[in-house]
Amino acid sequence: MFFADIHTHFHQRNSISILNAHSSVESVHSRGIHPWNVDENYKLKIRELETDLQHPFCLAFGEIGLDKLCSSEFELQRKAFIQQIELSEKYNLPIIIHCVRASNELFQLKKEIKPTQHWIWHGFNKANLLKQTIENNIIPSFGEAILKNEDLRNELVNLESDQFLLETDTSTFSIETIYKMVAQLRNQSIETLQQEQISNWYNIFNSIYYKLI
Ligand SMILES: [Zn+2]
Repeated sequence: MFFADIHTHFHQRNSISILNAHSSVESVHSRGIHPWNVDENYKLKIRELETDLQHPFCLAFGEIGLDKLCSSEFELQRKAFIQQIELSEKYNLPIIIHCVRASNELFQLKKEIKPTQHWIWHGFNKANLLKQTIENNIIPSFGEAILKNEDLRNELVNLESDQFLLETDTSTFSIETIYKMVAQLRNQSIETLQQEQISNWYNIFNSIYYKLI
């Protein structure tokens, strides 16, 4: 069975994954203007991206979001994020979110915009924000942090199977390693976890993804 990996920067074997791409590629991928790359030319960059979003293998918008620790001006990041959210609604693409020290702004936008598309907070690593994230109907995606952060592991144990996703991002750990840790924590077999994750993907992408694999 497949290991479903919702966000990765590398081509993966033995998994179904969404590659964070920088140009259109002939495998399943996401595209977006990362908050680190937002500058005063963001409108032009987003316009250039718009045709690529219609590529049949582009299944998600991302990573996009807000990052208070990077050097891009925050107000520009916010504007670029909102504009990309609007496009995600227009093209029916779930979004993969990068959010650093900006959870209040993220939750606020979620409440204001009331998007129809799924919002996935990738690289989730803040145990104290998990409850609020789920209440705001944002899906946390766990990767390498789960191997290192005990508070996060303690929270993950209590989630329902449809409340989270798994990823490798830029990690040197494999997706199997992440699944092994999570299955062990949740006292279930890897096969059951794989099945649950595939069914989450089905809920997010509906039939689109299955036409491609
Ligand atoms: Zn990433």
